[in-house]
Amino acid sequence: MNEIDWSSLSFSYTKTDYNVRCYYRDGKWGELEVHSSDQVSIHMAATGLHYGQEAFEGLKAFKGKDGKVRIFRLEENAKRLAKSAEGIMMAEVPADLFAEAVLKAIKLNERFIPPYETGASLYIRPLLMGTGAKVGVSPADEYLFMIFVMPVGPYFKAGFKPTNMMITRQFDRAAPQGTGHIKVGGNYAASLRSGEMAHEKGYSAVLFLDSKEKKYIDECGPANFFGIKNNTYITPESHSVLPSITNKSLVQLAGDMGLKTERRPILLEEIETFEEAGACGTAAVISPIGQIDDIDTGKSYVFSKDGKPGAVCEKLYNKLRAIQYGDEPDTYGWNTIIE
Ligand SMILES: *Cc1c(COP(=O)(O)O)cnc(C)c1O
Repeated sequence: MNEIDWSSLSFSYTKTDYNVRCYYRDGKWGELEVHSSDQVSIHMAATGLHYGQEAFEGLKAFKGKDGKVRIFRLEENAKRLAKSAEGIMMAEVPADLFAEAVLKAIKLNERFIPPYETGASLYIRPLLMGTGAKVGVSPADEYLFMIFVMPVGPYFKAGFKPTNMMITRQFDRAAPQGTGHIKVGGNYAASLRSGEMAHEKGYSAVLFLDSKEKKYIDECGPANFFGIKNNTYITPESHSVLPSITNKSLVQLAGDMGLKTERRPILLEEIETFEEAGACGTAAVISPIGQIDDIDTGKSYVFSKDGKPGAVCEKLYNKLRAIQYGDEPDTYGWNTIIE
């Protein structure tokens, strides 16, 4: 790979030069290793393969106009991976090891960081899994932490556009007191079938209702949901929603812009009163929602009639992107800068 066509990048695996790995054995983390192969040799009885003892993260680095590379909210991702590890009884990756590994993976693959003008970025994928052999169900005593990076295109190639979501009660993503609040692969396995159903019907994702009562808004596919009404940013409070770092940042920025912010249960009926709605996460920052169709009842909730995103969604999106690329001051110290 010599010449990278930055304009044709999508969100798909691209091999870069190096990945970094660290093994946990005998109760401690070893040295960071650098690998150029993207293959991993793993015991066939690893708990990560059989019992879902696996968690991951996703963050991005951006090249600014000034040539500096900014990693967005790295410490938050480190904390969240530690929470995921605790949740499914894996060895925790210390925050300093996490940061060192992210920085190393980026520096070693510097030539893959997209230039500022492209609107693209470098996606960073940390992964932690049980590698110790167990056949009886119990936590492994060996773990592998690794990170690969890949350049990804701007999420909205054809402009910042609303997409449609679908509600169905046929599937749950996570149990009420289950693992929805941590970033484990099992949640994704559980959402594949409903996600495919949504895609087949022409929707971007399933907007899940709470698994217990099917009354409240929960997670929006692989992203958090938020709505805007009466100058207020509202996002669900739920044990089974993954605490999105993008959402946390948007709550802060919305407050700075003079909006009220609320994190509370949202009844399905309430979304009828929302002026705007969106899904948020690292991949897209914000995916404005045009319409939500409840395919079980036939009811539709429309937020955009003209195919354009709402004004608040657009303002929040531009503000967060500007901070990530270094176009606007990083007042909260969210970026880790690589000189
Ligand atoms: C990762 C993830 C998000 C988004 O989190 P960010 O930190 O904003 O990227 C939202 N929901 C689910 C289920 C996720 O796995």
